[in-house]
Amino acid sequence: MFRLRKPRFKNTMTLTPSERITPRRPHRSGIIKLVWQNPGISRSNVAKQLGITKSTVSALVQELELDGWLCTGEGGVSLALGRPSIPLFLNEARFVLLGAEINLSEISCVATNIDGEILARKTVMGDFSNAAIATSSLAKCVKKLRINHALNNRTILGLGVGIPGPVDTIRGLVLKAPSLGWENMPFLNLLQKQIPEIPEDRIFVDNDANLSVMAVYLFGQHKHDGDLLYIHMTTGIGGGLILDHRLYHGQRGFAGEWGHMTVVPNGQKCSCGSVGCAETLFSLNAIQSAIETGTGERPDSKRILELLEQRHPIVVKIIHKTAIHLGTFMGNLANIFDPRLVILGGRVAELGDALIQPATQELERRLFGKDYRSVTVERCSFGLDSVTIGAAGFAFHNLLQNNFENNLYI
Ligand SMILES: [Zn+2]
Repeated sequence: MFRLRKPRFKNTMTLTPSERITPRRPHRSGIIKLVWQNPGISRSNVAKQLGITKSTVSALVQELELDGWLCTGEGGVSLALGRPSIPLFLNEARFVLLGAEINLSEISCVATNIDGEILARKTVMGDFSNAAIATSSLAKCVKKLRINHALNNRTILGLGVGIPGPVDTIRGLVLKAPSLGWENMPFLNLLQKQIPEIPEDRIFVDNDANLSVMAVYLFGQHKHDGDLLYIHMTTGIGGGLILDHRLYHGQRGFAGEWGHMTVVPNGQKCSCGSVGCAETLFSLNAIQSAIETGTGERPDSKRILELLEQRHPIVVKIIHKTAIHLGTFMGNLANIFDPRLVILGGRVAELGDALIQPATQELERRLFGKDYRSVTVERCSFGLDSVTIGAAGFAFHNLLQNNFENNLYI
């Protein structure tokens, strides 16, 4: 076990403006990112991975320790040459990340540590079809979280927000969120005005399923797996894709809108105007409608689980048929993207093995080149918190991507 040395924390508020912005340190973000992704990494490994000298790393690490970003462990593993390596860690107790999810009747907001563990949460109910009301309600949630004693005056690194629809992430525009009734909505701009206490460049917005796959990528059991595919199945169907370690947005942010991929030609009419879309087959709405037609009851996901446990013959048959459609759909996606892992999230994924096992078998049946690869299908371990946790991690991830050395102090 490592014993952490208390960081020599320098109150950054006492730094002079010149200390804050000069000299430019192009590798500070790189070091923070490496230590975040590899807690306990040694200075020599940091030097190797960043392609800079050990003395430069040592100087920057010392500076980052002084600024309160890093702390070092003691009693590291001895190297072959006999000198122990000193493990580096982020100063976890100092920082907090904020993540939020907006839906028509509910806004959820969480504060997490840098490992994606929830420290506090706040939820507000209402009608959020009006974006001005949604942003002001979210701002109130953030204010309440900031004074939560569990956060113990931690510094906010950033805020990420998930929206149920494609987003132009550069301009912070929600392009189309049918469930909220938003089109071409300058959401980021509205939100920044409501939360002046968080610097504008620390607030990020993206599609909810994209943020769910980021939760898996940044904090999940398959952390930093470079090829992940996430299918979000709730009232509608969406998805997120990590390709070669990058969140893939496509041309304008519509990547992953595979709820409208045709699975059954000439199938049922979809809300998008097409027919036989995935959304008409294995969204919660589709499953509920099928069960309602067969039994006269429209159950929620919890009740569907109960009916499955009771082996209700009509429900068992419907879920099996749903699984075959889901497996066919996953097989198509796996043949396009060749992921190692397919993660299922949202309320439909809560149906568990009764759905996932036959769907996985169907995927395997349709997988090309199965002698050379395998695809694992798993339920998202973050459950219904995947969007908010992913949003929180995404904010820090983006800051580190953007080389924020000159703006490191907040
Ligand atoms: Zn459709």
